[in-house]
Amino acid sequence: MAVPKCKVSKQRRNKRFANWKIRPINLIECPQCHNLMKSHAVCKSCGYYNGVPVVHKEAKKD
Ligand SMILES: [Zn+2]
Repeated sequence: MAVPKCKVSKQRRNKRFANWKIRPINLIECPQCHNLMKSHAVCKSCGYYNGVPVVHKEAKKD
């Protein structure tokens, strides 16, 4: 809900931004294709998750 700028105190506004923090994404090596992938996610390059093909991608010939 939109609140007028003058109604939000400096303390309240600053507390909101105090908890805002960027963390680097956790990249791990895929056990299937050995590319970097996000942990706890389906691999973008081979479509495997936990050794199981979840997303069926066409095999690239290279
Ligand atoms: Zn992979």
